[in-house]
Formats: sequence, C-alpha cells, structure tokens
Amino acid sequence: MIPVIALVGRPNVGKSTLFNRLTQSRDALVADYPGLTRDRKYGEGVLENRRFIVIDTGGISGEEEGIDSMMAGQSLLAIQEADIVLFIVDSRAGLNPADEIIAKHLRVNNKKTYLVANKIDGTDPDIALAPFYELGLGEVHPTTASHGRGVRSLMEEVLADIPEFPEGYEPDDATGIKIAIVGRPNVGKSTLVNRLLGEDRVVVYDQPGTTRDSIYINYTRFDKPYTIIDTAGVRRRKNIDLMVEKFSIVKTMQAIADANVVVLVMDASEGVVEQDLHLMGTTIEAGRALVIALNKWDGLDDAHKQYVKNEIERRLRFVDFATIHFISALHGTGVGNLYKSIELAYQSATDKFSTNYLTRILQDAVREHQPPMIQGRRIKLRYAHPGGHNPPIIVIHGNQTNDVPSHYTKYLEKTFRRVLDLHGTPIKIEFRNNE
Ligand code: GDP
Ligand code: GDP
Repeated sequence: MIPVIALVGRPNVGKSTLFNRLTQSRDALVADYPGLTRDRKYGEGVLENRRFIVIDTGGISGEEEGIDSMMAGQSLLAIQEADIVLFIVDSRAGLNPADEIIAKHLRVNNKKTYLVANKIDGTDPDIALAPFYELGLGEVHPTTASHGRGVRSLMEEVLADIPEFPEGYEPDDATGIKIAIVGRPNVGKSTLVNRLLGEDRVVVYDQPGTTRDSIYINYTRFDKPYTIIDTAGVRRRKNIDLMVEKFSIVKTMQAIADANVVVLVMDASEGVVEQDLHLMGTTIEAGRALVIALNKWDGLDDAHKQYVKNEIERRLRFVDFATIHFISALHGTGVGNLYKSIELAYQSATDKFSTNYLTRILQDAVREHQPPMIQGRRIKLRYAHPGGHNPPIIVIHGNQTNDVPSHYTKYLEKTFRRVLDLHGTPIKIEFRNNE
C-alpha cells in the first residue's frame, strides 16, 4: 500500500515549500471540512519509482489553548492518517515552546517521526541543530526546502524505513480486475457498489477490513473474477473507530494507486465540481484507466441534462479518452454497461505490443508530421518500444528528445492511441536521448 507521510509543525517553518518540492503535483487534493480553519492538502510524490502520499497541514501556531485543542483538528487527523510524520522546525528561529508541545505529543504517539530542521541555509549547522536534540525525537535532519538541499537524503532514509510490502501482503490477494469506486461524499458510491454486487450471478467472498483502509471485495460475475476497492465502506463492520471519516482523501488516493481501473462517480444533479476534476487529475497522474459515471441521472429535467452535457463538453476535454456513463445507481439504470467500459479500459491498459509495431507507428507518425527543428537541427525520433502497462508506457529513442515540444508529444500520444485502438486509459510517452 502506498505510504502516507504527514508534514506537521508551526506555521511558517517551510511545510508548504517542502510539500511542493516533494509532490511537484498539479493536482493537490484539498480536504475541505466544516469547522476547520485551515485545510489539509494532499499530493503524491515519487522517488526512484516509489510512490508516497504527502499531507500538508496548515500548522499549529502555539496560540491555541492547551495541548488538546492544539493538536486537535487537522494536524491530529493528518497524524492519524499517516504512516510517517515529518515534524518540521525552523533552524533559524531556534527552539520554540510550541515545538516542545508538538514534540511531546509526537513522543507519545506511536507514529514513526522524523525531526526535520529546515532553513539550515545561512546558519552554522553545528550551532543551529544542537538545541533540537532536546526535543527527544532522535536524529535531526537538516534541510533547505526552498532549494531542495537535504530533501532527497531525508526521503531516502524515510522510504528505506518503510517496507515496500507490509507483512503478510500477498500480491495476488485480489483477483481479477481491481476496480476502485471513488468520488466525493454523497455522490452515490455506496449505492453503486451495492448495485454492482447486487447484479445477477454475482458471488461475493467475505473479506474483513481494517479501519483506515478501503475494503477489498472479491467476487465473480458470470464466472469472471473482479475486486471492488470500496472507498465508501459499504461492507464495513459496525462499531469501528468513529474518528475515521466516511470520506477520506488518503483512502481515495490509495485506492486509485492500487486499482487497475478507476470508476469516478459524480453527482449529475450538481454538475461538474472542482473536487471531481482533482480526482480525475490524480487518476491520470497515477496512470490508471478511468471510467466516469455520472450518477443520479434519474429525476433531472431536460434542461438540466443539457446543462450537464455542456459542462462535460467544456471541462472534461482533458479526459476525453474516458467513457462517460449516465447512470442511476438508485434504479440500476446503465449500471450493467459500466462493466463493458471497465473491461475495455482494462484491456487497453494492459495490451502488449511489439517493438516492431510501435516503431512502425512512430515512423509513420514522423513521416506524416515531422518534429520541429531545434537550433537548426531536426529532432530525430528513431524507434519505440513498450515500457510497461497500466498505464501503457511507450519509450521513444532519438536525438534532442529533451526538446520535443509538448504539442508534438500530444500528437504522438494521439496517434498511438488511435492506431493501437486504446480506450479508457492514459498513455505515457517517455523519451530517451541517445546522443
Ligand atoms: P509553512 O507555513 O510551514 O507551510 O511555511 P512555508 O512553506 O509557507 O514557508 C514560509 C516561508 O519560509 C516562505 O517565505 C518560504 O519561502 C520560506 N522558506 C521555506 N523553506 C526555506 C528554507 O529552507 N530556507 C529559507 N531561507 N527559507 C525558506
Ligand atoms: P456515497 O457517500 O458516495 O457512498 O453516497 P451514497 O451511496 O450513500 O448515496 C448518497 C445519497 O444519494 C443517498 O441518499 C442515495 O439514496 C442517493 N442516491 C444514490 N444514487 C442515486 C441515484 O442514482 N439517484 C438518486 N436520485 N439518488 C441517488
């Protein structure tokens, strides 16, 4: 399971700067809960092929009353959701009473914690770091988040401490296509999961779930195995920890990372909202196949239906590879058809192609429409080979490939998609410079 790292500390110590450096993500997700003054921000990072989720919290100022209220709210929630905590302090400001309060909480919390002394630039590290050892959190890791110094070695250490697979993990636990059902609260995920499972000839195998994670439901439909990754907690046992929110961004991001195909459920009565777009962005960045279900299509009048269709036309162009279904989970309308798109998307995402074939498509594409000249020399693209699937990765070798403009990459992507007849999955084009 993709690990979760929370950034905590006083305001202004450099948490957001570190977050941006770790995630470089266009699509940070924001948890927007009533009653919280500052939101938590979620992004995905990657270091040498290992992915992780980062949570940024607004910060604990020390002006809150008492430890309880200080650690309440989003920081506490972020710590609860995380596997690892990075506690950030400001090397220049020195040790602050609020740091001590936060440290006290973290010492009794059994989350693995790394103490990070940021803004080490322009200080004498020996002098600046010493006071922070008093916090009793072990090693102090110096960083300059604004320039990235120390960040990589910190993350290497953090990730080395997280086992790639948890104990007892069996990669084959899930069988068949893994389908994540994701979406904002109340869009109808639970209703849809029940519908998908309530279909004819579905046999569900019982699976106990944990509190934080999504539930994996194995079943067969017409003798074909599937696994639904249920983020809505339909099959959750009762009496679980009430602190666990019904909708959790971490759970959603983990489900997306672990799925073969993501079914994004939207509420047609509300149109297209920002959080839907972020979830699509997260799905594309993770490279997952995508099927869109516009739910609650029942009960909309024609004008509203037209409005939603216009919105889709206007705002969902960036996911034009995904099939959109207008469904009613409540009545079951259109639900069976979802399986067709799921199958097709999965097949496209996992298709295998030969180097020969990919190279031929590349050469045809280049002949049709040449890459531009850069400083008097034309970019040369020589051959292509497969680099992985789910998402399909096409690796292209050539000269001056660092200069391939994005519109040309788009053109290649479109051509590969059309000729290979791929539906429902993002494609990744990677270049290798052979000069
Ligand atoms: P947050 O409130 O903890 O999220 O802090 P920010 O990331 O917003 O950073 C607060 C200020 O510190 C900003 O002006 C940053 O540019 C600056 N900052 C962040 N990291 C560093 C660093 O490593 N060195 C220096 N000199 N400034 C930094
Ligand atoms: P979740 O939070 O995403 O799991 O959403 P739920 O499945 O709990 O559904 C939220 C509410 O929307 C419930 O009252 C459902 O009965 C209702 N709902 C779900 N699907 C539909 C639908 O297709 N049409 C209509 N009209 N209501 C629906």
